[in-house]
Amino acid sequence: MKLALNGATTMRADLATDIEAASAAGFDHLEIWASKLRQFLKTHSSAELKALFANHSLTPYSINSIERITFRDEKGHNELLRECEDVCRLASEIDCPYVVVVPGLMPEGATSEDCIVDSSRVLDELADIAGRFGVGLAFEFLGQPGCSVQTLDLASEIVERVARPNVGLVIDSFHFYAGGSAIESIDALDAARLFIFHINDAEDLPREELEDRHRLLPGLGILPLEDIVAGLRRIGYDRVTSVEIFRPEYWERDPMELARDARKAAASVLARVTLAGGER
Ligand code: ZN
Repeated sequence: MKLALNGATTMRADLATDIEAASAAGFDHLEIWASKLRQFLKTHSSAELKALFANHSLTPYSINSIERITFRDEKGHNELLRECEDVCRLASEIDCPYVVVVPGLMPEGATSEDCIVDSSRVLDELADIAGRFGVGLAFEFLGQPGCSVQTLDLASEIVERVARPNVGLVIDSFHFYAGGSAIESIDALDAARLFIFHINDAEDLPREELEDRHRLLPGLGILPLEDIVAGLRRIGYDRVTSVEIFRPEYWERDPMELARDARKAAASVLARVTLAGGER
């Protein structure tokens, strides 16, 4: 599996620093944090960004993210369509294959069927836009309380209902655990539908108390990372494992050093599973 650094891990570094840090640490790809991209493009062109990636032997894998795509009012939905067009155009200009999209909060009184209907309708519409730019949409469920799509099963049902080749899933180990997804749900997946694996660990807290700031480097917490990775290997997932951590304490660190530790930590979890499975 190829390794990526997600720009959230080094949140306070700018995009040029993320590219430098990811490249120096030996990552294959960078998942671009969208606000850093906007900041970068205030003073540079997308062609300059493409050249910067090439000069660092690194490629962009996704732009993170378009937030709360579902359960919007009409005005919010029209803004979403414009944002999607804008982000997908940029992605195509820099040869970035994916854009991550995130569901909204569950409105009061809504059922999971309402959620499936709204999510699949919105994703279908966004897939038309993304398709024009040759970009894929990676739908990321959030396990925390209040999110409309908390489990892999529900996210998978939505993506299956959309049934578009450029719409797939993200599994984030933190959200997988926080929302109570089961390892068997990975076995039920078609690997072609899984576009990104976000790897991170978490502090030992009750699921419902876990927040993004409790994320840790892979291997330092209590998440069942080896079971998740073993599941991904069973279904033949071989795309990208990306380190995505939102820990303010890490944001104080030197991004070059943090990127190196992040790569080492992720590679070590992946290697343990390979060894345990007896593969080469
Ligand atoms: Zn994630």
